Amino acid sequence: MTYQVMCSNCGHRSRKVPYGEDGADEIIQAGWNSFGDAFYCKKCVATWEKRNGKDRPLWGANHTRTRMLGRQVGELSREVERLNNRLKKCRDEMGHTTYDYMNWGNEW
Ligand SMILES: [Zn+2]
Repeated sequence: MTYQVMCSNCGHRSRKVPYGEDGADEIIQAGWNSFGDAFYCKKCVATWEKRNGKDRPLWGANHTRTRMLGRQVGELSREVERLNNRLKKCRDEMGHTTYDYMNWGNEW
């Protein structure tokens, strides 16, 4: 699975990177930063101070990495929930006879 962020100012999208810390750091190294829940590309980071003033600095690499990993966990949690619902539906459709015969219980 891959992940990308979008600039809240200009709409530019980051390149797609693998989930996890290495991918997040790749985006940060490409110049991305964040403010609260919003991400900003290198170009808009360069003009941030002009647009927002000196007393509202961007929140930096640690925050940006944490927000990206948090979003990934959220996306994956929703994906797991969706797959669990599909799995339950598939099991229900098979019915109990086949299910009991296979005798693989919840591991199946
Ligand atoms: Zn931008």
